[in-house]
Amino acid sequence: MPGLVPGIHVFLTGGSKDVDGRDKPGHDALGNHRRTSPMKRIIRGSILHFLSDPASGGAAAWQYWEDGALVVEDGRVLRVGERRDFEPNDFGGPAIHDYRGKLILPGFVDTHIHSAQVDVIASFGTQLLDWLERYTYPAEAKFADPGHAAAVAAFFCDELLHNGTTTAAIFPTVHKASVDALFAAARKRQMRMVAGKVMMDRNCPAALRDDGTAAEADIRDLIARWHGTDRLAYALTPRFAPTSSPGQLALAGRLLREFPDLHVQTHLAENKDEIRWVAELFPEAASYYDVYARAGLVGPRSIFAHCIHLGDDDLAGLAAAGGAIAFCPSSNLFVGSGLFDLERARAAGVRVGIGTDVGGGTSYSILRTLADAYKVLQLNGTNLDALRAFHLATLGGAAALGLADKIGNFAPGKEADFVVLDLAATRVLARRTAQAANIEEQLFALMTLGDDRSVFATHILGEPVYRRAMPT
Ligand SMILES: [Zn+2]
Repeated sequence: MPGLVPGIHVFLTGGSKDVDGRDKPGHDALGNHRRTSPMKRIIRGSILHFLSDPASGGAAAWQYWEDGALVVEDGRVLRVGERRDFEPNDFGGPAIHDYRGKLILPGFVDTHIHSAQVDVIASFGTQLLDWLERYTYPAEAKFADPGHAAAVAAFFCDELLHNGTTTAAIFPTVHKASVDALFAAARKRQMRMVAGKVMMDRNCPAALRDDGTAAEADIRDLIARWHGTDRLAYALTPRFAPTSSPGQLALAGRLLREFPDLHVQTHLAENKDEIRWVAELFPEAASYYDVYARAGLVGPRSIFAHCIHLGDDDLAGLAAAGGAIAFCPSSNLFVGSGLFDLERARAAGVRVGIGTDVGGGTSYSILRTLADAYKVLQLNGTNLDALRAFHLATLGGAAALGLADKIGNFAPGKEADFVVLDLAATRVLARRTAQAANIEEQLFALMTLGDDRSVFATHILGEPVYRRAMPT
């Protein structure tokens, strides 16, 4: 069975305090992340990463070394390049990870996923609003129980690692316990994660409905305890406009002004019935997008899932405000929401990342999600080449979340999260990639035929946290 590598969650003690007032592990006196040992790790294999979007940057947008080496020190990238250019003694240390024959990419970034929908994935037969009522809200109500929340959070974070996803923007539920459980699980695994308490104060079951004053107190407490702790960041998370009153959206806007380095995540323009409903609920707003813009929720760390049915003015407004879009093709197909136009968003200058949107989406695998993205674009009369696709999954996703200064590629100083991919993971994939003439063809076969079986290993801050079991 695949499993997490034991004994890896060991960090320095330092001067900063954790949630219980104890020394915060993994931090020095200034609160900076620090590791147990500054041990150098050398990772060998075929290495690919992006410096910009190949859609506009062309050949200068990416680098590939078939016989490459990545040097990691203290959890960060020290150097990357052609193996033969490295000093021989760079390979003399004890920590060499030999992945020759495998493809190493920066860890995948899932820009939109619901940790509380682990048990909702693959539910039959509805569109968005009915799907929420019938499946999602009953599942989310169970997260008032901290024990359930903790068990699901552990499964969820491990499943991300099994799929090579090292960073995600996550919706738990309205319950404070669900946020604590998720952040605790991500922190234990030292994952860079963005999440926040879901805000809902109307048009939802009573068990999931915020009380205004209590909700604000909960959010402030969660921000104080988790935002900036290790690699965690808090996102103001109104579920979507129909389940928040104007007063609650205004509260989110006030909090963003007070804490401008918070993230914002929500849903926008996913489904036509939803858009009609928003128009009824917010008659004063010019559009669905305008509901969020009026509340002051659109900025450079704001990400909006879906944006399938967004008008030109709203797309231009989103670009001008620096907001980003999470493109969730698997979910959009499964829930029957529509076909996102990536080319239109790019032309408007909006940053876009890829999102699985589990449980509306049907897979945790970013590879499978890229395959769906390709098909969605085909139906839109465009297409998605493999280099652009893998940019979306790595640096593009990091940029969409406002994290490109920390993760997304192997630029020196970045945090060394990466995934090791097996181009021969299945009989079909092995046969097809053996015929590939270049890295682009290999990548396209990988995104079309790959899934979690293609993930050979996942590393966080240079250290192995998941290794696929060998077939017996
Ligand atoms: Zn969603």
